[in-house]
Amino acid sequence: PEPPGPKPIRRLHESLINRIAAGEIIHRPASALKELIENSLDAGSTSIRVTVKDGGMKLLQIQDNGSGIRKTDLPLLAERFATSKISTFSDLSQLTTYGFRGEALASISHVAHLSVITKTESDTCAWKACYEDGSLVPVKAGLTPDPKPCAGNEGTTIIVEDLFYNTPTRLSALRSSSEEYARILDVITKYAVHNSTVSFTCKKGGSPSADLSTPSGSTTQQAIRLLYGHSVAKELIHVSEQDDPEAWSAEAYVTSASYQAKKIVLLLFINNRLVDSSRIKRSLEAVYSSILPKGASPYIYLSLHIDPRSVDVNVHPTKREVHFLNEDMIIEDICDAIQEALAGRSHSRVFEYQV
Ligand code: ADP
Ligand code: MG
Repeated sequence: PEPPGPKPIRRLHESLINRIAAGEIIHRPASALKELIENSLDAGSTSIRVTVKDGGMKLLQIQDNGSGIRKTDLPLLAERFATSKISTFSDLSQLTTYGFRGEALASISHVAHLSVITKTESDTCAWKACYEDGSLVPVKAGLTPDPKPCAGNEGTTIIVEDLFYNTPTRLSALRSSSEEYARILDVITKYAVHNSTVSFTCKKGGSPSADLSTPSGSTTQQAIRLLYGHSVAKELIHVSEQDDPEAWSAEAYVTSASYQAKKIVLLLFINNRLVDSSRIKRSLEAVYSSILPKGASPYIYLSLHIDPRSVDVNVHPTKREVHFLNEDMIIEDICDAIQEALAGRSHSRVFEYQV
């Protein structure tokens, strides 16, 4: 029997701490993929190819044609708080990349088997490295842990296998593989609209054809037509609004009153990050409640750029819900502009071009 009185305080094991921290960032295959897509975009990729097995639980592979990673940086790649994107605190206020915390690959390495194949412009061959718990491990049993030369194209391929193999409670909290796959497709779809110049594909491993495929160099509207269909694309109205002196700017593609969906589709990007804002959502719904019949909802893609000094980016990565300075005023301005556009008083209707 335990002695009476309070229980003793003990330090948690390093590996347990890291696994708990990783679970906070990587909730499910789609959240891992979001981090990997952002890394590929940060690396300047124009092509991003995703392969998925078993809803991402068995395999999540993402191949890009970005800058690649220097061989000398590979030992640090999956170390927590190691990043190439910022070096001083003040860099945070002028962030132009998605990443900056250096936590994504580290987290993944604590809850999955992580491998990387990468080649920079100046490399004569590609390099392969594997990671467990933040550190390099041998690519094959019997070899040393350092990266091994291999064949590969310029850019980076990240391979995540057996996600949550060592965190069974997390694994059991996941839905069916088809539902997890649907979430993966949703994340890629939204990033493909927001980055319409980049080509995205997604397919199931072993399948010859892609479930999602966009060409590079599309306009936003072409991407929306391809991904959400003609019925959405033909009703799109383009709205752009900006404050002077340039504290913020907004660009939106919203459907007219002739488009009526059962559920609202809202793609909200703030400073290029896919985020949630229940305030923005409620305000937009209010705009449409006056022009759509009850039970009908719009499609809205809204990209908002706000002076980085007014948004706290240094929130925990799990916080998808964002807040910023002068939120109420900015939201009101945007909603007014959308309302006017819907009423046909200003802004231009987007005309469809045959492609
Ligand atoms: P962060 O993005 O916050 O820096 P990550 O753990 O996501 O942290 O990535 C760590 C580092 O690995 C990045 O800073 C970057 O230098 C490098 N990296 C990751 N993915 C890629 C990629 N697809 N292409 C090039 N470099 C990458
Ligand atoms: Mg990152």
